[in-house]
Amino acid sequence: MVAPSSLGGANQTAPARGRPLCSLETHYACRVGSPLYLPLTGGCGCGAVRFEIDAPLVAAAYCHCTRCQRRTGTAMQASARVEPGSFRLVAGEGLVRGWFAGDGLEKVFCVECGSALCARSPEDGAVSIVRLGALDEDPGIRPSAHQFVAYAAPWEPIPDDGLPRFPERLPA
Ligand SMILES: [Zn+2]
Ligand SMILES: [Zn+2]
Repeated sequence: MVAPSSLGGANQTAPARGRPLCSLETHYACRVGSPLYLPLTGGCGCGAVRFEIDAPLVAAAYCHCTRCQRRTGTAMQASARVEPGSFRLVAGEGLVRGWFAGDGLEKVFCVECGSALCARSPEDGAVSIVRLGALDEDPGIRPSAHQFVAYAAPWEPIPDDGLPRFPERLPA
């Protein structure tokens, strides 16, 4: 089945699956009149690892930290917070590995293709962050800030998108 996002985005009719959900003010897709369908689905580049998210994403931001630069090979990573307990792996569990840099969350990727997927607690494995690029369709939310801009890559300007910029971590 062809994802609606590849057919032109929010103006296309969403596929008949899951349940429409339009309750959150923060939902870009709902504000523009395109209902969000749950579960959100996503996975890695090789397709072996698949996941589902049962609740709307909570908030999203761009991260310019050097860890994100290293693990993605790009200037910044767009990620979103997930409702606790709403993320579940549905395929490829054996191919999932995490990088724990000594503090913070473990950065989770597919060992086969290297795709960045999510971040989880090093203690209990609870997933609290998903990488927006790993999602199949419009997640219904847009990044609302840039964090760790003090470490931004010198070779790519921070987008002039009007979003607030924080030198260090985004205030909670
Ligand atoms: Zn993969
Ligand atoms: Zn980062």
